[in-house]
Amino acid sequence: MYDEIKSYKIPANDFLKKRDKKSLHNLLWNIFSVFVRLRDCYNGSGKCVTCDSKKFWRGFQGGHYKHGKTKATYFDERNVHAQCPRCNKWLNGNGIVYAEFILEKYGVKVFEELKNKAKKPLNYSKEDYINNIILYDGKVDDLLKIYIKNKALL
Ligand SMILES: [Zn+2]
Repeated sequence: MYDEIKSYKIPANDFLKKRDKKSLHNLLWNIFSVFVRLRDCYNGSGKCVTCDSKKFWRGFQGGHYKHGKTKATYFDERNVHAQCPRCNKWLNGNGIVYAEFILEKYGVKVFEELKNKAKKPLNYSKEDYINNIILYDGKVDDLLKIYIKNKALL
């Protein structure tokens, strides 16, 4: 399991600097999605954000409340949670239930903030992408330490 997560991880800064923005966007999404699913599946398994179905973290996807690869909300941790493929793909995000979840978990202020932020473009520079890849790589490492300590991945 640990090896599988390691395969998402990023080898070196030089490697990143040679990538174009599209490639960096995909690399950031890969590690960000692992982070979100590990965060939401404490001890390895968790519930879908919008239907409560239980799964191992790998069975989930990183499901957006506000959709859109080019929106400023794409890599906002409050906008993305572990979601089952049924809700994410077939129900197109299950948006009404997702809105209730956002309101309940973060409150009306964040709910409004995400709404306004989703109207803005992502606008990441290459440096922003690289900094975020390194940031989330570290966050995944921190979660893995907890998982391994709790023997959650064994
Ligand atoms: Zn679901």
